[in-house]
Amino acid sequence: KRMNKPVIIATSTIALQEQLWRDVHAVMPLLGLNRDVILAKGQTHYLCNKRADEYMCDPKADPPDAIKEGIKQGYEERKDFPEVLPQGVWDKVNVQRFSMKNCGSCEKKCKYYKVRAALKFTDGVVLCNQDFLTQHLMKLRRGQEGLINAAADLLVVDEAHNLDDKVRSATTERFGQGMLFGMIKSAFYELRSSDQSSVSREKREAESAIIAFYNCLKAQVQKQINDAEQDMRYADRFFFDQNGSAVELLTEMNAAIHNLSSSIQIYSSMDFRNNRSFAASDDLDAVSESLSELLDRIDDMLIWIEQHGSNTELVYCPKNTKEIVSRLYFNGDERTILTSATLTNATNGSLEEQYSYFISNTGFPAGDRGCLSEPKPSPYPYDEHAMIYYCDDLPHPTREHEAFIENGVERLLEILSISNGKALVLFTAKTDMEEVYSILSEKNLPYKILMQQPGSSQDKVLNEFKEDTNSVLLGTGAYWEGISIEGKSLSNV
Ligand code: SF4
Repeated sequence: KRMNKPVIIATSTIALQEQLWRDVHAVMPLLGLNRDVILAKGQTHYLCNKRADEYMCDPKADPPDAIKEGIKQGYEERKDFPEVLPQGVWDKVNVQRFSMKNCGSCEKKCKYYKVRAALKFTDGVVLCNQDFLTQHLMKLRRGQEGLINAAADLLVVDEAHNLDDKVRSATTERFGQGMLFGMIKSAFYELRSSDQSSVSREKREAESAIIAFYNCLKAQVQKQINDAEQDMRYADRFFFDQNGSAVELLTEMNAAIHNLSSSIQIYSSMDFRNNRSFAASDDLDAVSESLSELLDRIDDMLIWIEQHGSNTELVYCPKNTKEIVSRLYFNGDERTILTSATLTNATNGSLEEQYSYFISNTGFPAGDRGCLSEPKPSPYPYDEHAMIYYCDDLPHPTREHEAFIENGVERLLEILSISNGKALVLFTAKTDMEEVYSILSEKNLPYKILMQQPGSSQDKVLNEFKEDTNSVLLGTGAYWEGISIEGKSLSNV
């Protein structure tokens, strides 16, 4: 209020963003403030009208009623569409690649475009996630225009114990063969048809180099599966072996993509038609830049392979996120306030000792320009009101997965019968959550079984969980922290 400038509040999950939305609206009248509050959700939460039109006109697509009806009603966000809409369909119509300059000519009816435009000029409160804030700061530090009004120089980072993780995920790149082929195809078709033949040789070379590199990755994965002593059925991450030909093939692939991208850029720059979109050729250029950076700094990078079904991806991020966090959050002109219930790692010693883990992971400038506050202990009487149940006799969760789920559900039911429901059941894998949900749903239990909603807003299911006191809610990442369920509904975690 005193600074008369926009403020950015970043947190870690959509459930927390929605909770903060309510909190900010409750607090503003008490402060005599009346400012815009913008909830900046990730782009995949919004409908892209252009992609939706393409999908609806595709003769091979079979759009379900939920999407047809939603579009007819003018719905613009995932939360407006019914829950039954399959995620696979939503992924075909949501915003995937967005560039304010070069997105299409449909911005007037695009909610995401309007939100992004509003963020650049707002003098109010921006509620976003830490990934979005990190991307904004990365742009500012590179001297580019940020995603949010640059006048916002007060940053509040809630759930700040996640900061190094979020910065790592914001700086993690992943490329699969299908994705690269798709980008090449899109960039190629952005050219005038008369220009396409001029780059077809480079296109063929890039495609063969991509195939050669990904065949090498697939062979590495297969070798690790063959050499492993344990059942690798559920493994999805594998080592990237730099010995052998992988780095050489990666270098060749990058050179071929760079060649193609440069040729496409040259022909695009000679195309003066109005309203032409060159988003895909810009994307291809960005891939080539990212791969060059990886090769230049290969010893400073963590590189691994991920295998999801038949899709093999090369994934990498910088080893040292501490320097990046410090550069983004503690070395600019902005003032940053970090909040969390779990920033300290000890209850004794000096403040610097109590915060030592966080300081060593993020480069927080304690004692220099950074102030540490005295941790506030929880007022909740854990010793009187909490009980921990621990067991070490269940089958191994990955080596004996089926038995683990089967016995785990039996054990879960025993525990749920003690509290008569009223429980939040947390999972690390969505597939496990869905499997347990389908088993529990068929059991005719005396309490209702609810499950986290796909992708988007969690308000509805959380309200149902609060109101139906005995219900049991199953959730993954978004529910691990920060959700607020007062009263008896949440008696058992
Ligand atoms: S402006 Fe971009 S994101 Fe929005 S509807 Fe158009 S193409 Fe999709």
